[in-house]
Amino acid sequence: MKKRVTLTFPRRTIQMPVTYRLAKDFNVAANIIRAQVAPNQVGKVVVELSGDIDQLDAALDWLRSQDVGVSLANREILIDEDSCVHCGLCTGVCPTEALTLDPKTFMLNFTRSRCIVCEQCVPTCPVEAISTNF
Ligand code: SF4
Ligand code: SF4
Repeated sequence: MKKRVTLTFPRRTIQMPVTYRLAKDFNVAANIIRAQVAPNQVGKVVVELSGDIDQLDAALDWLRSQDVGVSLANREILIDEDSCVHCGLCTGVCPTEALTLDPKTFMLNFTRSRCIVCEQCVPTCPVEAISTNF
């Protein structure tokens, strides 16, 4: 899967070989879309990360642990919990298991960190409980 994120590097981490560490330690490929980096300044890099979803999450956790600011693309899926009837139809099309039914309660769970905003779930909902913020 792919995630587009904005990374903000404090001055002390600006020299960190991030793309190398992401590839070597997490098997995550980093494609830099845009970079604003200058010596002794806070740096901002927009990057598309590709890899296994769990390793992507681990890579983002590692970046945060290194005091790198991580901002996920702000396109989001919205679930209207008042409208949802927990039919589970949306879980059948979700490629990342961001949408699942709780095996005990049969209630819908949405794990936002797994969502790649592919929008496949939006048209499946019979009560139009799923929408986007864009
Ligand atoms: S947009 Fe919907 S189907 Fe796609 S990953 Fe997110 S929750 Fe799953
Ligand atoms: S398809 Fe709609 S109503 Fe059914 S579980 Fe998903 S969000 Fe809820």
